Amino acid sequence: MLRLGLTGGIGAGKSTVAETLTELGAVVIDADRIAREVVEPGTDGLAAVVAAFGEDVLDEDGALDRPALGRIVFGDDAKRQQLNGILHPRIGARTAEMVAEAPDDAVVVHDVPLLVENGMGAAFALVVVVDAPVDVRVARLQETRGMSVEDARARIAAQADDDARRAAADVWLENAGAAGALREQVERLWHERLVPFARNIEHGEAAPVPTDVVAPADDRDVVAQRLAARLAVVGGERVRRVEHVGPGAIPGLPAPDVVDLLVVADRPGDELAEAFRAAGFPRTGPGRHGSADPARPARVLVLDGKSRREAKRATAIVEARDRARRDPDRVAADPAAVRAEVALP
Ligand code: ADP
Repeated sequence: MLRLGLTGGIGAGKSTVAETLTELGAVVIDADRIAREVVEPGTDGLAAVVAAFGEDVLDEDGALDRPALGRIVFGDDAKRQQLNGILHPRIGARTAEMVAEAPDDAVVVHDVPLLVENGMGAAFALVVVVDAPVDVRVARLQETRGMSVEDARARIAAQADDDARRAAADVWLENAGAAGALREQVERLWHERLVPFARNIEHGEAAPVPTDVVAPADDRDVVAQRLAARLAVVGGERVRRVEHVGPGAIPGLPAPDVVDLLVVADRPGDELAEAFRAAGFPRTGPGRHGSADPARPARVLVLDGKSRREAKRATAIVEARDRARRDPDRVAADPAAVRAEVALP
């Protein structure tokens, strides 16, 4: 199963992409809808909200009066936390239930409007962002949802900016043009990346690692940090640190297009290896993982921070990287030697 997060600013086309993915066979889980469902009349969620905030949060029909609740928690951190304490566990449980019901080879799409704003990218094996220029979004919102220009602009301004979304995105879908062009991008993404990605996770197979040396891409470190954050999140407390290492971690050094990561964990074992697989990093050997994403090859070396010998190895790898980073002249003069020095053992 591949779990991906889908997001985008209001009016960018996120719902349109979710619909296309559903048609193609994805299991789409709508975070906003679940947030509403857990406080529908008759739920224990609504009962808990009423117990905490009083009968005034109900409308005449006994349903949640959102504006009334909003007025109570607005600007009051303690109350908002109390509300989140009621909602989040219930949203989490319902989400987990829906994920558990999906088949093993499924592409599960979490439709999360505020994924970037809430820093949730690392919780997914892949983040897909839909975007369109602000003017185009405003025009679409006016046309199809009857929003005023001012309202549309204010909502857009309150959300994450483009830079934050770009940093979070593994896949960027540009929806400035015709709806057909967006559909084509989504279909290609589905067949070329998502389906093989999900299959690789299911079978525990890693994407092949390229060996051709190429010019360094500008976003090499940003990409590596995204992958590192995923390993840290799924690894939980066991993981002490995740470092971007290898030739790709040296600015300006031409290298094969593969992300090398070093994980230092306390007594890593089968449980951690399985968690990494489910997050898109299948095991390729003892203490070794690869990437299940056919478009993003990676190598992960896991060392035991509690073993003196392995901790020393980890230190040596990080120190070799830092030496190379401090010496750009040498990187330029003898790239092949630097690649050999910083290569993962
Ligand atoms: P979001 O879910 O990101 O807020 P939607 O997918 O609902 O955005 O798109 C906003 C509106 O714009 C919808 O009515 C949708 O049908 C329309 N729309 C989306 N993409 C295009 C496009 N490429 N061309 C024209 N209209 C579009």
